[in-house]
Amino acid sequence: MEVKSEKASFFRSLQAKFNLSYILVIVGVLLLLNTYPLVVSEDMVFRSKVTTMQSNVSVMVYSLSGLPELTEENVAAAMEMVEESHLSRILVTDGGGKVLYDTRETGNAVGEYALYSEIVRALQGEDVSSCSYRDGAFRSRASSPVMYQNRIIGAVYAYEYDREQAALLVGLQSNLMRLSAVIAAVVLVLSVFLSKALTRKIGMLLTAIRKVREGAYSTRADVPGRDEISQIAQEFNSLTDRLQTTENARRRFVSDASHELKTPLAAIRLLTDSILQSERIDLETAKDFVADIGQEAERLTRITEDLLRLTKLDSGVMEAPAEVDVLPVLEQVMRMMSLLAQEKGVDLIYEASEGCTVLATKDEIHQVIYNLTDNAVKYSGSGGAVQVTLRREEENVVLRVADNGAGIPEQDLARVFDRFYRVDKARSRAAGGTGLGLSIVSDTVCRRGGTVKAENRREGGALFTVCWPLAGKGGSL
Ligand code: ADP
Repeated sequence: MEVKSEKASFFRSLQAKFNLSYILVIVGVLLLLNTYPLVVSEDMVFRSKVTTMQSNVSVMVYSLSGLPELTEENVAAAMEMVEESHLSRILVTDGGGKVLYDTRETGNAVGEYALYSEIVRALQGEDVSSCSYRDGAFRSRASSPVMYQNRIIGAVYAYEYDREQAALLVGLQSNLMRLSAVIAAVVLVLSVFLSKALTRKIGMLLTAIRKVREGAYSTRADVPGRDEISQIAQEFNSLTDRLQTTENARRRFVSDASHELKTPLAAIRLLTDSILQSERIDLETAKDFVADIGQEAERLTRITEDLLRLTKLDSGVMEAPAEVDVLPVLEQVMRMMSLLAQEKGVDLIYEASEGCTVLATKDEIHQVIYNLTDNAVKYSGSGGAVQVTLRREEENVVLRVADNGAGIPEQDLARVFDRFYRVDKARSRAAGGTGLGLSIVSDTVCRRGGTVKAENRREGGALFTVCWPLAGKGGSL
């Protein structure tokens, strides 16, 4: 069977959506991984640098404290005691900003005015410190005033240019980037595999659904695993099982129905051909043939009527039920059937109690009683006895139709309610049966919440028991 492929374009497919969501999540995570630790560690370095620079400057200010006035000599002498080799530059100015001490050898600023903003602010009495990162290096600055008896007599300025720590940070950054690239690659490959595995299952299910849609009802979705998709596949399989059973029943019914319709039609054809082809046919024979044609036509009518009844029952469209008293309907059927029974030499008796009300329609009740009694009369034959009883038993209305005929072979009991099923085809046909009577009974009763059962009586003959829920006790409108 060719199944039309209705492949969704890749970009609209579930797999693309899965992949895209994986990628979005991983891009988010990697962005965070690449920025957050760097920002945090840069901030930590800034803080530690500022603190260190401040304490360095404080040590220098302390070493200058106690001097009433700063001169090149006393500052140089004091600064000798301080060992701050890691600092790139140290400046000491007097109260006017003139440089008295400078550690830089080339471009030494002693004697000049250093007007760095940090020094200007320190000379105004502020402790200033700052740190920045640019071009792969940390630049830290700190400046503090030097006081003598509450008077600002100068300022100390320190500057540090640090490439080492910056190199560590750059190293961390490139490590993170390498790690991110590896993670991204792994997640990408994994996402492709995972989404493929998931969509492969959905694909299997979809293929099976399409095959069933095209009519291959025996198709089953073989999806491994226990996840939700596998569960959907199992549900789908049990649905197709039911569909196949229904389809088989439908096919059997159609073929049985056409066979049943073909038989009387073939007989009619044969009879008309016989009349038309005989050159000299006497009136008596012609009448016999036409009477036979009439009988076959009657049979056709019965079959089509029964088929229509069953189709109506199958369609599920039911007339709205009402509370029906079964007794008058039973009496009406008995009046009708007693004539037929008399004709056939069958003794038909009935016994019924009052108060047997069920939720159904009069026609339905009539049909059920008629079909069962007709069968009992038909299959018990001349000299037979048919007994019909109607009783109210607990919350049910029970109808029993018993006869003393040949009964039904045990192996056929379960099948007599099947459409077109007959124990003895020839006998049923001869008696004018269609093989649909009991199916109609069973469908009609079951649709109103009742049950019907066929069994053999110990003393011989068949017994059919119909059980309807008593109106108001389970029968639903
Ligand atoms: P039919 O039109 O052939 O009677 P039904 O559906 O009414 O079709 O019955 C199915 C078959 O069940 C009959 O062909 C017959 O073999 C068997 N059957 C039904 N009722 C009785 C009965 N009272 N006694 C014996 N056999 C019966």
